[in-house]
Amino acid sequence: MDRGYRERRDERWLTDMARDENSRFLPLKDLNILMFQDPQIGLGWLGVDELRRLRIDSVPLFLGQMGNRMSQASFFAVDISDHKKAAQALTDTGSYQFMDARTVTKYVSGEDSGIVAQARSQVNWHNRNGFCSICGHKTFIKRGGQVRQCSYCDTEHYPHTDPVAITLVSDNERCLLGQSHGRLARTNIYSALAGFVDQGESIEEAAAREIMEEAGICIKNIRYHSSQPWPFPHSLMIGCHADAVTTDISIDDEEMADVRWFERGEVLLALESKSGTLSVPGPIAIAHHIIKAWAMNDTR
Ligand SMILES: [Zn+2]
Repeated sequence: MDRGYRERRDERWLTDMARDENSRFLPLKDLNILMFQDPQIGLGWLGVDELRRLRIDSVPLFLGQMGNRMSQASFFAVDISDHKKAAQALTDTGSYQFMDARTVTKYVSGEDSGIVAQARSQVNWHNRNGFCSICGHKTFIKRGGQVRQCSYCDTEHYPHTDPVAITLVSDNERCLLGQSHGRLARTNIYSALAGFVDQGESIEEAAAREIMEEAGICIKNIRYHSSQPWPFPHSLMIGCHADAVTTDISIDDEEMADVRWFERGEVLLALESKSGTLSVPGPIAIAHHIIKAWAMNDTR
């Protein structure tokens, strides 16, 4: 998806595209995504005719364009949470359902998961930023949703992304995995340790601080592996590997239910869902990929 950074500065072009019969609109209701009833078919993109028929008049958020020079289509997200009849009409057809974004990613391609992440984060941000944080007056959408501008003091407000360092620590043949309190506590699902990057902190500093806070382990040689947008609500997961300098675990009870060292052999089994004692997150999560890279000895 080309996010159309140049095109979206042209408000007239955006208006034209929002009326164009080739444009596609992805409805969200309470941040859930419209999917076909058979989720294998994928995302429930609607055309402009269907929006009109359903009397959906929310300002669409421009996601970007796809296609080649000859046939390019514009894609939008449209929040229909306030259009309850339209949402009901869509599900009443039996063709569609609204699905939680996490579940959607189990059925759609990596590219579509990216679109879902963008759509969900954007809709969520717009819903929470209807008023200026400087002067309290109403804000309005600009550049197809990239910016909101205050109607009174003209301040432009940009959506922010919260960086999260997620770090797989190893001492050669073992890696450090934990589970926080909450829905995964006391299951056998363990993951790499993660935490938000504070203001004024580097990724490396954040990784070292989090691992020390949550597990009492000192680390070195922190290196970047890959990243993943995580729209719950608007994070960027930054996957790293690091080497343990110390190995005695001291758990932060307030945040973590358990932290342990796991042997490479057991982790390899867990990655294939063949371990009776350990489960790790599936391939939709970056944790899976940094754990796998370490287990396969591919951490550069
Ligand atoms: Zn203002």
